[in-house]
Amino acid sequence: MPQPARRLEVFTESVIREMTRLSNRHGSINLAQGFPDFDPPAELVDALATAIRGPFHQYAVTWGAPRFRQALARKHQRFTGLDVDPDRHLVVTCGSTEAMMVSMMTACDPGDKVIVFSPFYENYAADAILSGAVPVHVPLHAPGFTFDRDELRRAFAAGAKAIVICNPSNPSGKVFTRDELLFIAGLAEEFDAFVLMDEVYEHIVYAPHRHTCFATLPGMWERTLSCGSLSKTYSITGWRLGHVIAPENLISRARKVHDFLTVGAAAPLQEAAVTALEFADAYYAELQQAYDRKKLQFLGCLKQTGLKFTEPQGAYYTLLDISPLGFSTDTEAAGWMTREVGVTGVPGSSFFREPEHRYIRLHFAKKEETLRAAGEKLVEGLRRRA
Ligand code: GLN
Repeated sequence: MPQPARRLEVFTESVIREMTRLSNRHGSINLAQGFPDFDPPAELVDALATAIRGPFHQYAVTWGAPRFRQALARKHQRFTGLDVDPDRHLVVTCGSTEAMMVSMMTACDPGDKVIVFSPFYENYAADAILSGAVPVHVPLHAPGFTFDRDELRRAFAAGAKAIVICNPSNPSGKVFTRDELLFIAGLAEEFDAFVLMDEVYEHIVYAPHRHTCFATLPGMWERTLSCGSLSKTYSITGWRLGHVIAPENLISRARKVHDFLTVGAAAPLQEAAVTALEFADAYYAELQQAYDRKKLQFLGCLKQTGLKFTEPQGAYYTLLDISPLGFSTDTEAAGWMTREVGVTGVPGSSFFREPEHRYIRLHFAKKEETLRAAGEKLVEGLRRRA
């Protein structure tokens, strides 16, 4: 028999998605894969009900339905000030998962090196490998998840074609400061590299931290592929609506990749999502307040377990330090938590390049009552174990 492709031997299936399956099998509370258990805004659901009866059952334009692209460009301009032309600077993708893959394939040839911080969202290394590129990891050092500037410079100097930055960052919760981003921008310019931004958590940032859109930094529009999504901002992870925003010379190439990968995102969903993109500023303020409350509530519970954990500056993840519990690996700990405590998280090792088994990643994009139930189980179960 022929051997299937060797490139698939060097990475595993997503551990995040595997933990969801494990949670479903055991009926545990799933704080592993980051998605809400609350409904999206009612207005948006109504818009979908209307769209589904409309004439939107065939392919939309491959790089995005015009009305959706126009609304997206307006919304992006409203928050970043960038003058995005919906016909030249945008491609709509099936979630930011596809947006990242498209960006990687647009920027990199086989053999090119891509800098990926560690810890990192697990897709980035897989995207690099699937594109034939080689991930080069630069650590973000706990507890502040800061990078060593000399180390990053050396990684660029070794010939990086691109760098991937998740800001706000999954799983560390880091929000890169403007100063850090300016430093990276300087290196990207000096070593002539692309910057692949994952900004899906742009609207979930805890004060006093602030999100800086990388492409707005001086000289960075030209070399940045900004990936975003409606999943987290409007609580619609199942709609799979993402996008890449970049200058025309990059988008014309990104569209080709997207066209042959997926043809296009679902037409009725693009039509309905225009409603979300037109929400007033108050929507975003309320979203932030809701996440402020969830963070306070959930981290308050974790405090009672007596274990240490990271406090996110943005996004909705925390890394719980389970090292005092005496497990030999985080995977074993995550299995035990699912079976014995009734709460599922993601073994932290799946986000690190280094052999780091100290953490379980938990997320708090859940209803108050879900967080309360999970909190009670964790306090009880982890205390028992400790
Ligand atoms: N970003 C989410 C997480 O890290 C899930 C994304 C996904 O599974 N596509 O859990």
